[in-house]
Amino acid sequence: MISAASEESKTVLVLGGGVGGVVTANRLRRRLNKRHRVILVNREPLFSFAASYLWVMTGERTAAQVTRPLQKLRRRGIDVVIGDVEAIDPVNRSATVAGKTITADYMVATLGADFATDAIPGLSDAGRTFATLPGARQLGIDIDTITRGRILVVTAAPLYKCPAAPYETALLADAHLRRRGVRGAIEIAVHSAEPMPMGVAGVNVADAVKQLLASRNIDYVPSHQIASAEPGRAMFADGDTQTFDLLAYMPPIASPAVVALSALAGTAGWIDVDKHTMQTSFPGVYAIGDNAQIPLSIGKPLPRAGVFAHAQAQAVADNIAATINGKQPAARFDGHGGCFIEVGNGLAGYGSGNFYAEPSPSVQLRDPDRKQHLSKVLFEKDVMWRWLR
Ligand SMILES: Cc1cc2nc3c(=O)[nH]c(=O)nc-3n(C[C@H](O)[C@H](O)[C@H](O)COP(=O)(O)OP(=O)(O)OC[C@H]3O[C@@H](n4cnc5c(N)ncnc54)[C@H](O)[C@@H]3O)c2cc1C
Repeated sequence: MISAASEESKTVLVLGGGVGGVVTANRLRRRLNKRHRVILVNREPLFSFAASYLWVMTGERTAAQVTRPLQKLRRRGIDVVIGDVEAIDPVNRSATVAGKTITADYMVATLGADFATDAIPGLSDAGRTFATLPGARQLGIDIDTITRGRILVVTAAPLYKCPAAPYETALLADAHLRRRGVRGAIEIAVHSAEPMPMGVAGVNVADAVKQLLASRNIDYVPSHQIASAEPGRAMFADGDTQTFDLLAYMPPIASPAVVALSALAGTAGWIDVDKHTMQTSFPGVYAIGDNAQIPLSIGKPLPRAGVFAHAQAQAVADNIAATINGKQPAARFDGHGGCFIEVGNGLAGYGSGNFYAEPSPSVQLRDPDRKQHLSKVLFEKDVMWRWLR
């Protein structure tokens, strides 16, 4: 319902200070009069840009270059609360943080996805993950020092963050080892739990990624679910065993515990939303980014990717601000987006299109070039400098 712009103060509570939360809070702040409050809650004091972790792995970024203190948002008039969201009450649009309840007129859940690494016994001890900042740094050191043997890259479940990242890891390791002059003595293999690379984007994109791997002499085995691991050996659900000198993995994901335990929990604990407005079934409550579940026409969910969290954040912030300002909320997330695939030597491919297209997503992968690599750098700068300056 549209009403005249309210003279009273409204409060918007943003749960999560990742890509979705930071973009939502900033955009709201720009569109709302100062009498309205924007509160952002995050567990850690630092924002961390996961899309640059693989550049930390290759040594092209330091950890400091891909993190920013969230307190910077205070200068813009955003209230930043550092603490754990312990409970969410969508009926009353409130959350409990460090024992205190914060109640709002609008609430946006953007708490990402938890890593469920323990689902694969032994994985965290036997391998390194490129999905966390410390993991990516350590893996980079390992890739920088290995001189012979076998690198095994696995996706530990069909559902994980950023469909391109495991394939980029293999391609970037290949480029780095070639630069070091040791690639001839090191085998690289990717064993994925999913049936094809970036499968949600369709067979043509999957074939193009397979071609990228094959052209660099990287073995690829799809539909191969890892079941457990120990130092030097990975055991698979079909009874196969693979040896390795270095194991790099993408962990399975699960809905954040606090979401799964709340009334917001829908399909498998994720938050079900209207795919265009990101509204939940609770009035004034929205969910965006990795903690939202959006089924596509092919039965798979919209991939967990920062580009989608970013675009959804813009639509949600515009609609909340419009409603508070007495205007028609007309912004929509239309399912368009793209995913870079870094291949090393300053080159990247780009798979982009309409993920909401019927009867299946319409996505094309452009061959790697310098321009696309620079576009990814621009995406990084946009988040790190525009939203967190
Ligand atoms: C290695 C890697 C590479 C990637 N590369 C790309 C890429 O190139 N392009 C791309 O588009 N995407 C990429 N992604 C995916 C992208 O990072 C995520 O999809 C994106 O960050 C999702 O944004 P979000 O706001 O939903 O969640 P997040 O960015 O994960 O933010 C969630 C925030 O909520 C906080 N939080 C969680 N639970 C609580 C709690 N209980 N209390 C308080 N705070 C809490 C977390 O600490 C976190 O700060 C990559 C991911 C990985 C792991």
